[in-house]
Amino acid sequence: MVIMPRKALIVVDMLNDFIREDGALYCGKRAQEIIPFIKEKIYEFRREKSPIIFLQDSHDPDDPEFELFGKHCVTGSEGAKIIEELEVKNEDYIVPKKTYDGYYNSDLGKILKENQIEEVHLVGVCTSICVMETSSSLAKRGYKLVIYKNGVADFDPEAHDFALKHMEKIYGAEIA
Ligand SMILES: [Zn+2]
Repeated sequence: MVIMPRKALIVVDMLNDFIREDGALYCGKRAQEIIPFIKEKIYEFRREKSPIIFLQDSHDPDDPEFELFGKHCVTGSEGAKIIEELEVKNEDYIVPKKTYDGYYNSDLGKILKENQIEEVHLVGVCTSICVMETSSSLAKRGYKLVIYKNGVADFDPEAHDFALKHMEKIYGAEIA
């Protein structure tokens, strides 16, 4: 019998402020085009009973990050909500984060340990920022990474291409 590694799907920052055209930090059309792919992955992981973890940018109203990016995803605001198309269920995890890195100062590590996860699959935005920073943290802690090139997007296409290459060559991620 082949024992499959325990895997989880991490959905990064698919929030109104990043995905809606009128969002505070809209990531562009490409970010909307990945929605059907992500829905399919969520469906696949649900069917296999593998955990689904939504990372949620969640800032204080005076977060210093706003100096770089402007105000977005303030905790409890409409902009910080996960887009309704992804139909979050009660059994899913929602992990708020205050930085680009979804592992840093969050419950992500605890959730992965509790579920004995060995392999994490990532989708969401932005490829070169929160997806890459979170991947970096996970790679350092020995998780096997799978990044779906049709499931991640970035407002900067060059940064997107660089990030995929970097995660593959430097973090050892499988680009699927
Ligand atoms: Zn942010």
